[in-house]
Amino acid sequence: MKTTMTVALRLTRRALSVLLLGIPAAIYSQQPTQPPTQAQPAPVPHVTDTTTPKLVLFITIDAMRSDYLARFDGQLIGGLGRLYRGGAFFTNGFQDHAITETAPGHSVTMSGRFPVHTGIVMNVAGVNDTTVKLIDAPGMGASPFRFRGTTLTDWLIAKDPRTKVLSVSRKDRAAILPIGKSKQPVFWYDPVNGNFTTSTYYGPTLPDWVRAYNARKVPLSYAGRAWRPMLVDSAYTEPDSVPYEAGAVDFMFPHIQPTAPDSAVAFITEFPWMDEVTLDFALSGVKALNLGAGPQTDILAISLSTTDAIGHKYGPDSREIHDQILRLDRSLGAFLDSLYKVRNEKDVVIALTADHGLTPFPEVHTTHDTNTGAHRINVRPVLQRLSNTLAARGVPGNGLEVISGVYAGNGFYFDSGVLQLDRAALQRANVNVDTLLATLRANFLKVPGVARADRISALATADTVNDKIARRWLHMFNDENTAAMVVSLAPYNYWLSTYLAEHGSPNDTDAHVPILFYGSWFKPGRYPEFATVADMAPTLAAVARVTPLEKLDGHVLQNAIR
Ligand SMILES: [Zn+2]
Repeated sequence: MKTTMTVALRLTRRALSVLLLGIPAAIYSQQPTQPPTQAQPAPVPHVTDTTTPKLVLFITIDAMRSDYLARFDGQLIGGLGRLYRGGAFFTNGFQDHAITETAPGHSVTMSGRFPVHTGIVMNVAGVNDTTVKLIDAPGMGASPFRFRGTTLTDWLIAKDPRTKVLSVSRKDRAAILPIGKSKQPVFWYDPVNGNFTTSTYYGPTLPDWVRAYNARKVPLSYAGRAWRPMLVDSAYTEPDSVPYEAGAVDFMFPHIQPTAPDSAVAFITEFPWMDEVTLDFALSGVKALNLGAGPQTDILAISLSTTDAIGHKYGPDSREIHDQILRLDRSLGAFLDSLYKVRNEKDVVIALTADHGLTPFPEVHTTHDTNTGAHRINVRPVLQRLSNTLAARGVPGNGLEVISGVYAGNGFYFDSGVLQLDRAALQRANVNVDTLLATLRANFLKVPGVARADRISALATADTVNDKIARRWLHMFNDENTAAMVVSLAPYNYWLSTYLAEHGSPNDTDAHVPILFYGSWFKPGRYPEFATVADMAPTLAAVARVTPLEKLDGHVLQNAIR
């Protein structure tokens, strides 16, 4: 079944990250040497109300496109509808960086800084850490060892050491990165045993309440369940019969979760109820940790990952994603109702965003321009020529190797549009890097669908107000040791990849995300001003009346604050 292929690809990519840890990890861990692009000084809180929240609930919905909210608004009667209609919503909100993957996006949410400053630039160099182990679970260890700087958690603890924190997600990177380096209760889902786990970075054992939750085997209780649309057929405008979805296998409702226990706990990640389980687990944590009881401001960070899994599999225009958003709306509504039974709503501030968006299948546009001419871009011939040239010059390597979309050639890596050079090896072979990059740039630009190929040194002089692609790359990298050249595709194109729907580009389909605040500190309404996810942490810091401990890239979204 195709879902097995998805898991296999993920594992391959994960295995690859181990292989690549040598060069890229070293490259990515370099400290920035230039001042931040568009950096703002640490904001001064301007709120007049002296009361502060007892709980900051920060919800990150993985791959939640901003337009889903308006598109399904009339059918959102649960938590999403409540937040969308009752909150301060920034309609022009962006993850304003180029590699719109999960790890970089989550590193921005609660730090107020772009990936160029958090040090988290790609999933393959995200939280994967071979020096730590998972607790009571197989799989690679995970920690925030690559993350640089501080987050809202650190700022709150600096003000009041009583501050309590809980972060939960189905994904390790989505649980870890919003909190930064702080050793807090941070838990994610282990799809092998069907348990929530953490790593030895955070402590030697799981706390009693997590063990008790795992003992209930909640994920297993969904084994064999059929996913059918929750509303009548006429409520969905999207066709169900689109073979581009799910690699043309199991692309129509109903989708049946496997019954065998091993498969059931593995594949629940591709069904809407994984979000229900994550929220249920978070609520257990609120009670066990007595989170949000005050007087200090506590943090509950929840990242819900199923919108990403379903979006990848069926695309953003599918009947499946429509139904997922409706189910997420209901799950979130039930969660908020339960939370407000144990905590006063007026003490809670909620922020909601996404780590990135999602680009439709190039072949399928039901709600987008159908004449984009978009397709899947294959730059392998360009990279093959580069590898051959370098091999002929004596740069060592095994020729061009490709594992799950990451290219490794003689003296270079290419992933997500980023070329990294082994400059020492090139220097030893007397290769002129400027000439090499000029030729390579010309070759990239000959490939239809490639919009631009830029050296970071050239982007540094770009008009970063009007040239959003340049700006987004500069929010990712600031020197050519980290990224010698960055290649951007024209909107709606994909890198040649699997059958999955994709994100990861600097284009708006992947960068446009909801930015929403809800609670008595905010004025409900629609805010059309440009906002970035990096603005969220300083804005929350302002209402919690704490001062960030370092220079941030984001600024306080003052207009929305009462
Ligand atoms: Zn994704």
